[in-house]
Amino acid sequence: MASSKSKQSFLPPHFLLFPVMAQGHQIPMAELAKLLSQNGVKITLITTPQNATRIQPLLSQSPLIQIIQIPFPAHQQNLLQNSENFDSLPSLHLVPQFLTATSFLCSETEHLFPQLSPKPCCIISDMALPWTIQIAHKFNVPRLVFYSLSAFYLLFMANLRDTDFGEKIMAASDSELISIPNFPDPIQVTKSQLIFTLDPVFLEWGNQMAKADSASYGFIMNSFDGLEPTYLEELKKAIGSDKVWCIGPVSLCNKDTKDKARRGNKAAIDEQECMEWLDRQEPESVIYAALGSICNVTAPQIIELGLALEASNKPFIWVIRQTKSTEKEVENWLAETEFEQRIKDRGLVVRGWAPQVLILSHPAVGGFVTHCGWNSTIEGISSGVPMVTWPLFADQMFNEKMIVEVLRIGVSVGVEKCLRWGVEEEIGVQVKKEGIRDAIEKVMSGEGEEMRRRVRELAAIAKAAMEEGGSSHLNLKLLIEEIMHQADSVQPQKTF
Ligand code: UDP
Repeated sequence: MASSKSKQSFLPPHFLLFPVMAQGHQIPMAELAKLLSQNGVKITLITTPQNATRIQPLLSQSPLIQIIQIPFPAHQQNLLQNSENFDSLPSLHLVPQFLTATSFLCSETEHLFPQLSPKPCCIISDMALPWTIQIAHKFNVPRLVFYSLSAFYLLFMANLRDTDFGEKIMAASDSELISIPNFPDPIQVTKSQLIFTLDPVFLEWGNQMAKADSASYGFIMNSFDGLEPTYLEELKKAIGSDKVWCIGPVSLCNKDTKDKARRGNKAAIDEQECMEWLDRQEPESVIYAALGSICNVTAPQIIELGLALEASNKPFIWVIRQTKSTEKEVENWLAETEFEQRIKDRGLVVRGWAPQVLILSHPAVGGFVTHCGWNSTIEGISSGVPMVTWPLFADQMFNEKMIVEVLRIGVSVGVEKCLRWGVEEEIGVQVKKEGIRDAIEKVMSGEGEEMRRRVRELAAIAKAAMEEGGSSHLNLKLLIEEIMHQADSVQPQKTF
């Protein structure tokens, strides 16, 4: 007979999650959802129909997770109706309009919130959705900000706001090296490397984000305590709060092949075929080259990368992101030059979405040519793979500095200038075949051995952090406890 005690049950705490509809934001947010649900938290995740289809496979096995779909208000900013994700925008210069359109989801969510049961005890919002603070205020719940960014970059952004560094760099020439103030390591940048970050449109959006962040309860980061401890400490000082929880690398929540393979989108290559190909290669011999989910480099630049991979004389997997403006030219070149025929014994070309985490975690992969998106960076680190760094925009220049100068686990291809969306990204070839090939050679040769040793050590620390009792695992538990402590909804509720 059940005791009277067992008749009283507790409803799980309920968190409301808002990802930004871009792969580099929504994949780690979905992985955060999965981790929270594994720790007994009920999750409601708000997104649009097309994005729900992409996220669903990652979350389908978690009964505590529900996805609520709200149509994307594209018309509010004159965007095409099917532009529900950064990667379906005809040009990335439309991102500010896209982000403004997301704010029209606010009133829908305010309508929905009272119907959610039990009442959500917090909102976890992507950093780029400052309007979610209104919902938090209206329903009197704490807002937490999720950053899939490094403490290194966030500390730089805090310094940019709080010091005269911005004025100093504006007064400098394009190539003059200026030291970043209040940084634990002597890191220098040029104006050319900052043109994206200093774009007035993004500075304004950054100000709105900072305002919402300063009214928020705390920060969740896709990083781990052992990766950048001094930057993390300085960041806490700069923002005047120690409510910062590093709970990553979140991609390590995908344990089996299936989970890794269906992460984020339907892969353009059969997972079995890909694994068998990798199984046939020597350990640490393969270069994996991929420039993220939204890069818009030109067809000649894509071709230059293909030629560099061929010239490296190493086995490789080359991911070509297909866009309307480049697909035809690249396909014609591949066919006319019989590229795939030439490299058939040692190269694999993936057109479209690659199962990146699955590939990176294979022991045959020995080098990663990356655009240094933060997710790719931390995925490379947690797979123990040294990197060839080719930053394109946003925080990527900083991630390169962290990889090459601080962690010393990669070699730069020598990019001198950041790309602005819709401006420089449409200009021909910026990185030459020789630069890419030479950087690959350094990473894959004896010179790369020390980098390999260091990145392997970091990978071991990352894995330990995510295991039961590890720092990220504990931080997640502490975060849940703290939010539950704050919330009304966690009061015992009788189910009869
Ligand atoms: N990704 C993937 N396959 C692809 C392209 C991207 O799995 O073909 C994933 C990658 O593993 C990462 C995310 O998409 O988790 C991209 O985020 P990142 O911050 O690296 O770059 P972004 O795409 O935002 O520039």
